Amino acid sequence: MFSLIDLPYATDALAPVISAKTLEFHHGKHLKGYVDNLNKFVPGTEFEGMPLEEIVCRAKGAIFNNAGQVLNHNLYFTQFCPPAASSKGPSGPLADAIIAQWGSVEAFKSEFEAKGASLFGSGWVWLSVAADGTLLITQEAGASNPVLHGLKPLLTFDVWEHAYYLDYQNRRADQLKELWNVVNWKVVGERYEK
Ligand code: MN
Repeated sequence: MFSLIDLPYATDALAPVISAKTLEFHHGKHLKGYVDNLNKFVPGTEFEGMPLEEIVCRAKGAIFNNAGQVLNHNLYFTQFCPPAASSKGPSGPLADAIIAQWGSVEAFKSEFEAKGASLFGSGWVWLSVAADGTLLITQEAGASNPVLHGLKPLLTFDVWEHAYYLDYQNRRADQLKELWNVVNWKVVGERYEK
């Protein structure tokens, strides 16, 4: 059985970057829907008891879509913290790697935002690390995840309309810019170092 993750903060803790209303719908309705679907579709298939990442790499159709969205949202919701607790930028080995590759954290953020803003339709923009240590910013459509390309996902911004429409309406780029204020870089750095 798959479970809906608990948010590691109160639903009003990320406001005004992400409102309580958006979090209540996004976590309590959208993510819960994907979890419920997975629990409906997986029993009795070869995917029963399989780790989520393996299902995402092997499944097609409805099981892939719902497993991908559960994996994506689990990584998304657990990478945030209240604005006052956010360091607003990476530190340690991840900061060194980002600066080595993009020249500055600002240049990295700018490319990440641009790729999120230009992704056509619903999907996700990701920072991932390849097996050789190279960092990459990729766009993934729909429910896709960088694990499908053998990458380790570190940070993601959800660009499905449900992620921003209540707070920003059609202004996707505005939310992307604001989201940096609630990134928990400690969590992202730990994903990189692990
Ligand atoms: Mn979403």
